[in-house]
Amino acid sequence: MQQLETLKSMSEYQLRGLFRSILQIPNHWVQGGKGPGSARFAYSLFCLLLFCAAYTAPAQSQKKVLLILLDGIPAEVLERVNTPSLDQIAEQGGYSRGIMGGEIGGKSESPTISAVGYTTMLTGTWANKHRVYDNAINNPNYKYWTIYSMLRHASPDAKLGIFSTWEDNRTKILGAGLKATGYLNLDFVADGYEKDTIRFPHDQKKLYLNQIDQLVTDLAARTILEEGPDLSWVYLEYTDAVGHQFGDSAEMDHAVQLADQRVGQLYSAIQARMDDFAEEWLVLVTTDHGRTATDGKDHGGQSEREREIWFVTNAKNLSNRFRSGKVEMVDVVPTLVDFLEIQVPRRQRKNWDGSSLVLKR
Ligand SMILES: [Zn+2]
Repeated sequence: MQQLETLKSMSEYQLRGLFRSILQIPNHWVQGGKGPGSARFAYSLFCLLLFCAAYTAPAQSQKKVLLILLDGIPAEVLERVNTPSLDQIAEQGGYSRGIMGGEIGGKSESPTISAVGYTTMLTGTWANKHRVYDNAINNPNYKYWTIYSMLRHASPDAKLGIFSTWEDNRTKILGAGLKATGYLNLDFVADGYEKDTIRFPHDQKKLYLNQIDQLVTDLAARTILEEGPDLSWVYLEYTDAVGHQFGDSAEMDHAVQLADQRVGQLYSAIQARMDDFAEEWLVLVTTDHGRTATDGKDHGGQSEREREIWFVTNAKNLSNRFRSGKVEMVDVVPTLVDFLEIQVPRRQRKNWDGSSLVLKR
């Protein structure tokens, strides 16, 4: 499309030059009143064809993805609490409950533990493949690519960003810079603040995580606005910390509202990008697990409430699978790949345990 935009902006003089260079004819032939009539007619036809090509070709927008994970928010808590930003995104696309955890009792059963959920979301496979069974992440199987490695492979110049309240998401789950991931490199990184105990002293109520979530959001929103990365993951942790302390409570509801405000901040940046540039953004917001039914404090098991997650997206062309209520965490990768329309090697695609939630065009 770049070439067509260039054609639209060419002057009459430049057009004549282009015409002559293609047909190898003298300049005066295409100037008014001189040269053979057939040359002047051919020139007129040439201009008409260029005009048609420039103005009838559909403008193609660049596709970009923002993935947001809000840690440990049960579906019915999200549905009960007032979350205007998430509602605004869902109005554009949709909202659905979903499942994390694989087949109960089967080989794909995956603990409803945070890092297990993130890795499942990013690889499109359950724990029996990606080998992340807990938050220690001691032995991940990088043979199962994350969406970051897939996009980097398909488009080496793609701009990739991570904005995260937990550094291990980059260093261990994505495996950035490791030989096993082909030294995956990221273009925009904002993480590791939880290790800076001078700037963010670790208080008992874990309010420092609330501060870091806000900082990470600020940096992500600014980067999206100014740089428009092709793929970004924003990970916010405070809701899980509040869940562990207070369980189902007014405190948890408030933490969910704070998370929603941050989603709104990020979505505003995306709306500004779409106003200013020919870009199409897919926003997908989810959580990594639910919480226990008794008091909402814990997670890790295979109870219905711990397995129940949810998805909010602005995607307009959602498949029936999205609305089926059987959406699973492993569906995220096929969805992002279909939206981005990138080529992923068959040896990777065949590993996926999920299906796309968007219809192909
Ligand atoms: Zn979690």
